[in-house]
Amino acid sequence: MSLSATSAGPREVVIIGASLAGLFAAAAADAAGARTMIIARDTLPETPLARKGVPQGRQPHVLLHQGLLAAEKLVPGIREDLLNRRCTLRAPSLGSTSTAGCLPGYPRTRRSRRLGRCWSSWSARRYAIHRQTGNRRHRYGRSHSWPAGLLAVGDAYCAFNPVFGQGITVAACQALLIRDALKHDSSRAERGPLETRRLQHRIGAAADFPWKVATTEDLRHPSSSGSQPRVQRFFGLWTTQLARLAAHGDRGAYLAFARVYHLMAAPAMLFHPSLAFSACRAAVRGMPEQNPRPRALDALMRSRSA
Ligand SMILES: Cc1cc2nc3c(=O)[nH]c(=O)nc-3n(C[C@H](O)[C@H](O)[C@H](O)COP(=O)(O)OP(=O)(O)OC[C@H]3O[C@@H](n4cnc5c(N)ncnc54)[C@H](O)[C@@H]3O)c2cc1C
Repeated sequence: MSLSATSAGPREVVIIGASLAGLFAAAAADAAGARTMIIARDTLPETPLARKGVPQGRQPHVLLHQGLLAAEKLVPGIREDLLNRRCTLRAPSLGSTSTAGCLPGYPRTRRSRRLGRCWSSWSARRYAIHRQTGNRRHRYGRSHSWPAGLLAVGDAYCAFNPVFGQGITVAACQALLIRDALKHDSSRAERGPLETRRLQHRIGAAADFPWKVATTEDLRHPSSSGSQPRVQRFFGLWTTQLARLAAHGDRGAYLAFARVYHLMAAPAMLFHPSLAFSACRAAVRGMPEQNPRPRALDALMRSRSA
């Protein structure tokens, strides 16, 4: 997206891409009173339909709780709307994109792969194959030649392995940062390259933790192309232990996991002393009996194989 300052009258924001990151950014600019133009490659359908530019639109998406809160701030009433459209809400007990091709060519900083390079989805009894599903991040805004007023958000800045369901949430959180910058800091955000780079840096920071989660998990996979630093390896081992505790009915481990995964708590929560105590107890006494497999899951598997 691109911000431009005018001496008088409303500010202008041009957004490239009308998928979720673009639309969240448009809602953010609108809330800040800017005049917004969206440039879309596809003709947008009247009703919700998958289109060429957003092939993943064919399959159900997970929205993390933090993403739901951010989306509700940007588009008040969206939660109700989603529920009315039969989205399932699972609150875990909690208290732009492919347009990267349009931006100056910056190198990918890290990439790992899981499940090969494709992700298949089952929808209406048909498989859809998606490629380019590795974690991909561009460090836009670091170069001194980065143009003033140009910001990269959503998958254009950082795309995650879809297995983790983080992309929409990060895009919504980034849009909130843009809204606040335009509202409270607008003249500075638009003034020059330095301010643009600072805002881009804050936008990038919103992806930091989800990026760690996705890459830590993916680097454990034998087919991934990188190696894990020691700290990351330790983090991976510890979260595996917590996942086992959670699967065996440890409520503390489950809640810590759910809150951190849904970006509702800092990762430090995973290192709470009570969890270390539970892990030690399980090491001495053995794990409690495993939670039974949900009946609904068995029914779903049966209906799929029928
Ligand atoms: C298979 C799959 C499953 C996923 N599952 C989840 C999930 O469960 N939960 C989750 O949070 N995230 C998921 N994601 C990620 C999520 O879909 C994206 O993070 C989210 O849609 C935000 O993407 P975006 O708007 O940045 O980019 P995209 O959705 O890729 O949209 C890019 C837009 O830019 C347009 N465009 C591209 N080039 C141009 C151009 N030159 N000019 C004009 N317009 C252009 C395209 O037409 C499109 O409209 C999944 C992704 C994939 C691939």
